[in-house]
Amino acid sequence: MDEINLSINPSTLCNFRCDFCYLSPAELARRDRLDPERLLERLLEISRYRRIAHVDLYGGEVGLLEPAYWDELWRVLRVFYRERVNVVTNLSVAHPYFEREDVDLSVSWDYVARPRFEATLANLRALKRGVHVLVLASRRLLDLDAAELERFMRILDETPQVESVEIKPYSLNPHHPQPVRYRETETWIRRWIERAPGFRFELVNADLVARSLRREKRSWSDDHLYIDPSGALAVLDFDDEGRERFSRLASFDAYVDWTEREKRLIREHPTCSRCPHLGHCLSEHLQPVHADPGDSCNGLRGLLDDPPELCR
Ligand code: SF4
Repeated sequence: MDEINLSINPSTLCNFRCDFCYLSPAELARRDRLDPERLLERLLEISRYRRIAHVDLYGGEVGLLEPAYWDELWRVLRVFYRERVNVVTNLSVAHPYFEREDVDLSVSWDYVARPRFEATLANLRALKRGVHVLVLASRRLLDLDAAELERFMRILDETPQVESVEIKPYSLNPHHPQPVRYRETETWIRRWIERAPGFRFELVNADLVARSLRREKRSWSDDHLYIDPSGALAVLDFDDEGRERFSRLASFDAYVDWTEREKRLIREHPTCSRCPHLGHCLSEHLQPVHADPGDSCNGLRGLLDDPPELCR
């Protein structure tokens, strides 16, 4: 049986209002959440087709959901999935599930680009466990001067809880659009990779580039499915202006059809069809290349055509 990676969003409620967020202010204030019974139905459906290989829980801020609700989610999840669950949090609040042994903790920490970054850092340093840090390459971070970037890297390196760091490219969204060019993101990630041999933590991006070049990384969406707070299956899609959005799907069969359309669209695209990295590039969600001719693409092709020394 083929495998599937699930990203489950129980709630979009959040206590932060980051200027890069993929959610609208109305969504960030919504208090409705995924009904565990609906989750059970969806997992039953999915597991008829695929073995669940990985689960992310993300939001919104999942730390705002009370432990009794987590217990219900966990009971349902454990029927279908016995491995560690990756929980993504802004770590603004402590939560009993964050220290559990069956949880991998990913902390979104964007230094000065995120509200209350110092308080969150204090929470991070109070943890009795290792964490994976996610950094979104938003406008504010791309604009850091050399001294500030150095300070950012040093803080991460001097925080023993930080075991690994991954820079995530900013993706244009309708609610918080930012002018970010792919080339800028590539240059910024390159700067981190060049520093990677000196870091105590693992820089995941270096490994991602190396795996793309070995054609081990896959960029298709046919192994990654979302469940949204309404309990619907969803995929990350793009509108005509290249802005990301979630599209709900009526069934697992509809998801399979969607992934076949994605492959057709990208394989027939004039740029991607001629690209040597097709199917293995650094894109997390492929989209037709919209960028201006002087820019790169969301597969960050510039990092693959001319890879940093460490990744060759
Ligand atoms: S690297 Fe860019 S051009 Fe190549 S397949 Fe990926 S998105 Fe398309």
